[in-house]
Amino acid sequence: MSDLANTAASAKAQAPGRVNLIGEHIDYNGGMVLPAALSIGLEVKLTPRDDDRVLVSADHYDEQAERDLGETASGHWSDTALGASRKARELGLIACGADVTIRSTVPEGSGLSSSAALIVAILKAARKLGEGAHSDTELAVAARAVENDFMGVPCGIMDQMAVALATPGTAMALDTKALNYELFDLPISHALVVVHSGLTRKLTDGRYGERKEECDAAKAHFGTDDLCMLDPASISASPLPPAIRKRTMHCVTEHARVLTAIAALKSHDIAALAAAMNESHVSMRDDFEMSLPAIDALVSDACKLGAEGARLTGGGFGGCIVALVAKDAQDTWLEQLLSRHPRARFIAAA
Ligand code: ADP
Ligand code: MG
Repeated sequence: MSDLANTAASAKAQAPGRVNLIGEHIDYNGGMVLPAALSIGLEVKLTPRDDDRVLVSADHYDEQAERDLGETASGHWSDTALGASRKARELGLIACGADVTIRSTVPEGSGLSSSAALIVAILKAARKLGEGAHSDTELAVAARAVENDFMGVPCGIMDQMAVALATPGTAMALDTKALNYELFDLPISHALVVVHSGLTRKLTDGRYGERKEECDAAKAHFGTDDLCMLDPASISASPLPPAIRKRTMHCVTEHARVLTAIAALKSHDIAALAAAMNESHVSMRDDFEMSLPAIDALVSDACKLGAEGARLTGGGFGGCIVALVAKDAQDTWLEQLLSRHPRARFIAAA
């Protein structure tokens, strides 16, 4: 990533991409999650303007986008930067519009939270300019509101917390309800390798929202927002449709697996971490039904070729897998996996 120059009237800030090691679709159901920050990241430079325009240039796009602070999301790539700039003004960090310059090594639309990284980086740059007293957690909450309310993406709080607070090489055990968190180092013996399946999805494409609605139906039935805390026996005994019971059961078992994975990481128990990851994939495939046959095949081959554990990561229906691989076997493993799956590509290792 090139280093954007700081000038007196501008500020720059960075945020990393993130991979979720375990804990999928439970950040809006009262569960714990375990994301880790990647070495790939995004940097923005923000220069306030004295009119209401937002001019966005990015190294991923040839054309500069010219927007107005009053506009709503229109499906353009600059929507995310516009929404973040609007939020910066709403928080009183900038008085009018801004020029936004973006440099990024985080691929977009791959489940590595490029959108959260962009919004958080813009808000952190604006905080420097406005000398705002907002904490990183407060900026993460504001960044989630941009995704939910401006972009129409029904995501939870995990991505924004991870990119606002975790640094590359660390994992974050996050209580998504209380927003308490603990940061700790990843194992040195093993790499957590992120491989893109070659299948892309958008969180706004409907299926992510459909899962969220199914969880809402379970919340209404059980009278709680914390599906992860339900007793499995009460889920099995409920009159809910089988699909909704399965979604709810995934929340409960996935939360338990996250707790197992956190303890395993802390005690360097690679086998227990790997088992939790493998069980998580089965639950996402069979209970939350958010995988695809091509992703199941990638996960299965990742393990056959020597990964200790592997699972789909992110919102599902495409995107990336994350595999736990001994560092000394990583290169050969990756070469063999990519030769069996020509559409797949290496993204990053944590
Ligand atoms: P992801 O899984 O990467 O978060 P999203 O679809 O949620 O995927 O977010 C991608 C959107 O975020 C892009 O359409 C764009 O609006 C914005 N974005 C991310 N990275 C960049 C970038 N480098 N430059 C400009 N916009 C970006
Ligand atoms: Mg996103």
